[in-house]
Parts: sequence; structure tokens; C-alpha cells
Amino acid sequence: MSEHDEPQGGALHPRTAVLTRGFDPSLSVGSARPAVFRSSTYVFASPEAAERAFAMATGKIHPHTGERADLIYSRISHPNAEILEDQIVPLEPGAREAAVFNSGMAAIMTSFFTFARPHGTIVYTTPLYGGTTGLIHNFLEPFGVKGIPVPSGDSAGIDVAIRGAENCCIVYIETPANPTLTMTDIERAAEAAARHPDRPTVMVDNTFLGPAFQHPLELGADLVLYSATKFLSGFSDMVAGVALARNSETVNMLRSRRVMFGNILQPDECWLLDGRLPTVSLRMNRQSKNAQRLAEALNGHKRLIRVIYPTLFEDSEQIRIFRKQCAYPGALFSIDFRGGKKAAFEFLRHLRIARNAVSLGGVETLSCHPKTTTHSGMSAAELAESGVTDGLVRISVGIEDWRDLLADFEQALAAVG
Ligand SMILES: *Cc1c(COP(=O)(O)O)cnc(C)c1O
Repeated sequence: MSEHDEPQGGALHPRTAVLTRGFDPSLSVGSARPAVFRSSTYVFASPEAAERAFAMATGKIHPHTGERADLIYSRISHPNAEILEDQIVPLEPGAREAAVFNSGMAAIMTSFFTFARPHGTIVYTTPLYGGTTGLIHNFLEPFGVKGIPVPSGDSAGIDVAIRGAENCCIVYIETPANPTLTMTDIERAAEAAARHPDRPTVMVDNTFLGPAFQHPLELGADLVLYSATKFLSGFSDMVAGVALARNSETVNMLRSRRVMFGNILQPDECWLLDGRLPTVSLRMNRQSKNAQRLAEALNGHKRLIRVIYPTLFEDSEQIRIFRKQCAYPGALFSIDFRGGKKAAFEFLRHLRIARNAVSLGGVETLSCHPKTTTHSGMSAAELAESGVTDGLVRISVGIEDWRDLLADFEQALAAVG
């Protein structure tokens, strides 16, 4: 919400730009950090100004260069959404604009409803976040949009699926996959999509490694989606979603759907999330370092079949994708117990620091048993194909001292009979 979009030119590094761009203190009575504007409606300077604002909002006229559209009503937009949307852009390399939503699912749903077409097809990697799978099966398919699943990481299979998809409107990638961290080559999938005559929109759910460690827009994706509930907000105390695109028109299309669906992020939540942005890369770096220490220390433990973490990958294609696509391995790892579900539950019961909860990305360490919780909606065949076993425990590492976490995991492992 500044008069000039880039206060000091566009050349600042992301960590600086996130603090300087998009916020003009003079519009918040001089306060150094943004105020919260809770108003649901905005007062016009004149009836003519109201007429002009509506003409702009409905696309009948376009703003002059440098002109900012007057605010109208908070379901359309409000100052805290504008500030947040401006400030988050520099964190996503390649992004021009962002739109914020009241959950990650709201961002995903709005993106699907913007780009899906009747009788169209969506090629998607499996496994996906459970809510996204449900959206495809229980909502889009009954409306005549066909989902075409491809196992994540199957680089050649994704090419074939995209090439063969008729009336293809969306290619949807979640990488790394949850909870096995299987990685999909974004650039290769984007190239296959670019060669398709229907030119499908390539969307990447970047919740697990973005915005710090993986940059899909630079690899050819059109749209990046986030559950900001996770790393972006980082304290497990709010629910939010973000979509970012290379192209302003894509974001404008999402915003016009957002007005209809009524799923913009509310002012208080925007303000809270905006305050978390300057530390997201600090937090993610510490979380990733902690996770790497723990995963590598637990690797080879006698009670575990395997520890799943990018620096421990053995498959050459997975190693190749990780090295090419990710700056750091991230905060999530999974461990697979020899003793199956019983051992996994015993382990969770004995943890003292790491809490047993779903969700991820917060500054506190969380652990869960995917098969009976986050992935319990999957069929036996889907579970087997996705590597979600009885003994699998997923851990999202926080910013605690890693030595305390390691001691906690070791004592809980020792307690497993
Ligand atoms: C949590 C999550 C979502 C859904 O986000 P909400 O904010 O809970 O709506 C989508 N994708 C991934 C990868 C997630 O982890």
C-alpha cells in the first residue's frame, strides 16, 4: 500500500525488500509497522470517485499508470491484504503478484476453479495433501473434470501423462510429497506442459520447501500455492493461504474469483502473517539444520527400517532432483519402525519435547502417525503405492536446540519394546 511500488528501485535482495516494499508508514499514521484496518467498507471522496472505483473493480476501465484503485469493501480487498500481498512477492523469486486466502485449501480451491474447464483434465502427482485429493475426487470429478494421477518422482511417467491428457487445463505438482518426501522434477513437468497444445496452467504446492528453499516459478511453473498455516506463519497459531504468479493477469483472475467465493484473508490474520514474513528464511534455515542433524544421527538406528530425508536419498533420480531443485533439505523427516504401528505409537507416547499433532512448519517440533491420521482417507492400494506404512512417523522439526531434540528422540526410541 505505497504510492510507489518499489521504494528504492527493484534491485533489493528479498530479505531487504520484504521489509521495505509495499508499506508506506504515512498511510498508517506514521507507525513503523502496519496498523490493522478492520473496516468492512471504505468512504469515497465523492460520488464520482465511487463510480470510478466500481468501474475499475469490474474491469470497465483500467487505472492510469501509478494510480491505485480506491478501496471499496473488504471482501474485495482491504489495506492489510494489499500490504501483505506486496510484501510477500519478493520472497518468491520470479513472482509478480500474490493473492491471499483464508486457508491453503481456499487458495488451492480458488486456483482449481479458475483454471479448470468442463470436460477438462488435471494431471496431478500422488500422493497429494488429503484435502486436495478430496477436492479432485469429491468435487471436480462429479462436475466433469477428470483427474489423471501420476506417482510423484516418476519423471518419465509425468511426461507421458501430460502428453496424453486431452483438454488438459491443469498440471498440479506437490513436491516433496508428504510424508515420503518423494521429489518431482518441476522443470521437466513444466516443459512437458509447455509443449502441450492446450498449454495447461502449471501449479506447484510449495508448502514443504518454499519460499526459502525451492522456487517453482523460476523452473517454469505458472502458479505457486502455499498453506501459509505452515512455514510462512511459522507459529502454529493461524490458518492462511497464498497464491503467487509470474504474471499479473493470473493473479487478477484469482482475485476476481475470490470476490465471488468470499475467501480473502481477514485483516487481523493478514497483519499477523505480514509480521512473520521477515523471519521465514531464518526460521526455515534453523529448522532445516536441526532436521538434518537429527535425521542423520538417527539413520541406522536398530529400531528403524529407514530414515527418510533428502540428504539420505539413495535413488539416483531422487538425488538428482534434490540437488537441482532444492537449496536445502528442509524441516521434515520420516522414520519407519521395524515394529510397525505398535512401535510407532509407543514412540509417540514417550516423546517429551516433540508433541503429537498434525500440521507442520511451526517453531515447535511436531510428530504424527500419517497412516492413522493425515493419510487415513487413502485406500490400502494408495497407501502402499505412496509408501505410507504402519511404522511410519512424520516429524516436523522446530527451532529448539537440536541436542535436546536428539536426546528426546533417543529416549523415546529406547522406550520402544
Ligand atoms: C496444510 C497443507 C495444505 C492445506 O492448507 P490449510 O492451510 O490447512 O488449508 C495444503 N497443502 C499442503 C502441502 C499442506 O501441508
